[in-house]
Amino acid sequence: ALIGSAALALSACSSSPANDNGSAEGEGVECNVGISMPTRSLERWINDGEQLQAELRDADCTADLQYADNKVEQQISQIQNQIAGGAKILVIAAIDGEALAPVLEEAASQGVVTIAYDRLINGSENVDYYATFDNYEVGKLQGQFIAEQLDLENTDETFTLEPFAGSPDDNNAKFFFSGAWDVLLPYIEDGTLEVPSGKAPASDDDWASIGIQGWDSARAQAEMDNRLSSFYSGEEKVDVVLSPNDSLAIGIIASLKSAGYTPGDEYPVLTGQDADKANVRAILDGEQSMTVWKDTRTLGDRVFQMIQSIVAGEEPEVNDTESYDNGEKVVPAYLLAPEVVTAELVQSKLVDSGFLSAGDVGL
Ligand code: BGC
Repeated sequence: ALIGSAALALSACSSSPANDNGSAEGEGVECNVGISMPTRSLERWINDGEQLQAELRDADCTADLQYADNKVEQQISQIQNQIAGGAKILVIAAIDGEALAPVLEEAASQGVVTIAYDRLINGSENVDYYATFDNYEVGKLQGQFIAEQLDLENTDETFTLEPFAGSPDDNNAKFFFSGAWDVLLPYIEDGTLEVPSGKAPASDDDWASIGIQGWDSARAQAEMDNRLSSFYSGEEKVDVVLSPNDSLAIGIIASLKSAGYTPGDEYPVLTGQDADKANVRAILDGEQSMTVWKDTRTLGDRVFQMIQSIVAGEEPEVNDTESYDNGEKVVPAYLLAPEVVTAELVQSKLVDSGFLSAGDVGL
């Protein structure tokens, strides 16, 4: 890891008071952090960025926070500006996990340490650490929820399913999909689930064919409109929609509404992820069945701890050194545990913990 070699270089040249990455001898790296988040269009990224920035500033670090409006080029130039502005540590939630290798090369040449935040950055040896929730587990929780709700193991019925996947350029999306698909595919194969639209990848690897670019609600809505009008004419109803996250679920809910579905008996089981306010309200209103909650405060805290270690010249703690191969290396990662939240759990999990206020969700 870079930090290891930086520390080595430091101890090797004991006569110099500071090296070219600005850190004084034996003190690790200066606490000057560039935070690069994908977009303000999803609540979670706003919370993620602002919390980490506040925590860092409280600790007397310099922390620059940028949002890139889901535009890859914008994210790259913001990161370049942060490096030019003296950032020694980068915390990046990539828009396109394949597009950042050149800018990280630039960062590494200046001795900058990079932490991939929530989403892995691929194709670069210059990703030093990765902090995220267990992305495979997120999908698995969604798949298991569906299996339990419909009692797929014991039922004699056949249920209709429409699966969705996340943005093809987001490394997380394939983990979410495979977690869910590993649970659901056997039920498609044995006929318990059928996919009238035919949009059922034969294996985990084909997930991108049903990915919604940019995690965009409007695109998800248009896709669901299409499937409902083309494949659900007459009496046929959709029983389950696998949505990998809340922004897609918002579009799917709008589509279901306009097709005449109302909460109650014939409303499909619909999954999500993130516990966005609008979706938690939808859960309380019976328009969405669950969300996988990732307490982003714990992710921010974890990254803050990593930064403190790097600044102190120590190796940050990780708990996974095998799951996240980015094509150039297996990136040492810290994985946090996601949790299912249903209507009954909104108060105890989300409100009592202070993640959302009762007013946020109309309680
Ligand atoms: C994040 C999710 C989020 C999605 C869309 C994923 O990489 O892990 O929490 O819903 O991006 O922004």
